[in-house]
Amino acid sequence: MRAFAMLKIGATGWIEKEKPQMGPYDALVEPLVLAPCTSDIHTVYEGALGERNNLTLGHEAAGKIVAVGKEVKDFKPGDRVIVPAITPDWRTVQIQDGVPACHSEGALTGWKFSNIKDGVFAELFHVNDADMNLALMPDGMSLEQAVMLPDMVTTGLHGAELADISFGATVAVIGIGPVGLMAVAGAKLRGAGRILAVGSRKRCADLAMTYGATEIINYKNGDIVQQVMDATRGLGADNVIIAGGPASVLTQAVDMVRPGGSIGNVNYFGEGDVLPVPRLGWACGMGHKSIKGGLTPGGRARMERMAALVMNKRLDPGLMVTHTFKGLEHLSEALEMMHHKSADVIKPIVLL
Ligand code: NDP
Ligand code: ZN
Repeated sequence: MRAFAMLKIGATGWIEKEKPQMGPYDALVEPLVLAPCTSDIHTVYEGALGERNNLTLGHEAAGKIVAVGKEVKDFKPGDRVIVPAITPDWRTVQIQDGVPACHSEGALTGWKFSNIKDGVFAELFHVNDADMNLALMPDGMSLEQAVMLPDMVTTGLHGAELADISFGATVAVIGIGPVGLMAVAGAKLRGAGRILAVGSRKRCADLAMTYGATEIINYKNGDIVQQVMDATRGLGADNVIIAGGPASVLTQAVDMVRPGGSIGNVNYFGEGDVLPVPRLGWACGMGHKSIKGGLTPGGRARMERMAALVMNKRLDPGLMVTHTFKGLEHLSEALEMMHHKSADVIKPIVLL
């Protein structure tokens, strides 16, 4: 079968692969819709995960089940399913010891597609533990909406969870690409009063306002710490969600959050051995400013809950789809579109 793969750091291409094998609890799925992620770009062009050779890319998919293992109870061939980016090993002692499922067998090992096994950018892909990791795609959900759930929606909302937002809080969201846009939506769903959204591209800023931002801060128009301080009479934000930018945004987040406030990070920091937490901004270690960072939760229950937000009209993530390709062969174009994001690109998708 054909697969679109990372050949080595810096190079992608089409390759032939054996059809995946399946265990008794697993499923084989053929994609109906796929999307590239900024993380695929980090993986290929920055070597974020280290060297990978001929690894199929992609972890954002909804599809149709082709086959299930003999122990799979709740799914059958023909079912249309949402496939989470994170598919943990649910039968691990680490999870029973309270380790978040994203890290079921060590840090980030719940993230399997396009990390430690072949991803979803192929004619067929394998899903471990189907009953625990797949969710049925509800009737009436569009493919545009469905393919935003595996990663963009759950990750952005996780930013809001990590930031621990209270009703009426003033929240700064740094970065309003698709993850940050869903962080804005998550902050609104969690009852934020004010949402200051930081970005520069107009298309993203307009959509941030649609999803619940109350003000836009352009990081190209001056120091965002100062802009947040000016907007809050020098008090700072109650919570900050980091969803984009270089390591310096962590410094800015610590500086702009008020004492006792909290920062939720879902951004990938790709440079340096040490991240820059400012000594004075962090009140010499005594400011009760918490910093939490996380990979998005995955699995079935999470996807069913994300789907419930869509089906009950709390959230329409399909609005983020700016470009639609038809046919598997367009995956390379879609990926390159994510690589060189022009002003009008938020999220490209590929329909099959
Ligand atoms: P995008 O590249 O689409 O968005 C990045 C955003 O950050 C843009 O709004 C951009 O502004 C903004 N930005 C860039 N530089 C700065 C800066 N100096 N100060 C403030 N804002 C800045 O990325 P995505 O939304 O697709 O993904 C965001 C991050 O989330 C990535 O690092 C990705 O790898 C990570 N990720 C993490 C996951 C997890 O589970 N934790 C899962 C999926 C993704 P503009 O373009 O408008 O200039
Ligand atoms: Zn991703």
